Amino acid sequence: MADIEFRVVSDRREGLLLELGRLIVASGFTLQRQRMTRTDEGVVLTMVVRGPETNLLTLEDRLGSHPLVQSFEASAVDAHHAGAAPAPEPARARAVSEPRVEAATAAPDPGRVEALLGSLAREYPDIFSRVLAFEHEISPAHREATTRYAGTRLGAWIYKRDFALGARLNLADSVKHIALPAMRQLLRDTELDGDALRIKSSPFTGIGLHRGPSCHFLRGCLEGLFNEPGHLGRPRVVETFCRNTGADACIFTFGT
Ligand SMILES: [Zn+2]
Repeated sequence: MADIEFRVVSDRREGLLLELGRLIVASGFTLQRQRMTRTDEGVVLTMVVRGPETNLLTLEDRLGSHPLVQSFEASAVDAHHAGAAPAPEPARARAVSEPRVEAATAAPDPGRVEALLGSLAREYPDIFSRVLAFEHEISPAHREATTRYAGTRLGAWIYKRDFALGARLNLADSVKHIALPAMRQLLRDTELDGDALRIKSSPFTGIGLHRGPSCHFLRGCLEGLFNEPGHLGRPRVVETFCRNTGADACIFTFGT
């Protein structure tokens, strides 16, 4: 068990604690205490949560991609002195620090995404030159989170446009009957590979913008497609192989 303090910056107070509280519980944590203040940065929600360290990245991932979260920082709290204003151990000193430090600097930039979405809806499905230009313009610290967030918004839009009237499917069937046809509208060579999706022609690889897996926009699209119906919760989408790191295709896997 670990006690972690999150400092979340948002532009909205309404529903913030409720929504993030849900994420915290869904990730296996409990909220120990919280405090909300309004500052020049926006609304700042400080929360101390307790839960298994193995779930921490999941929680951070969910917080980082939540549309109400502009940015967040995490630091460990010494549980024995939690009430006595401890000096928090800096996140970067801990073993699982790398993604955490990235998360702190890598909040999405929702304002720029809003400006992009209108163009994507007009030009759909021929959107990639627009998305690539957008990705180039975003500063490196915000690039991954912002393009991924743009993807989630487009995925939600595609779901509402093309799939909202269909049956409520479980995750495996949603991959087959929603994610696969949706991604084929964007990239025709998308294939089902067991329970995963395989894409050979992602335009986000080999363009020098990212080290490691680079198809954050596609990952976001898939997240938006799964999150939008609501009954699946927020399934975890991982790009387990990417052509950007030498694989022959990008493979996306799904879990709860
Ligand atoms: Zn990829």
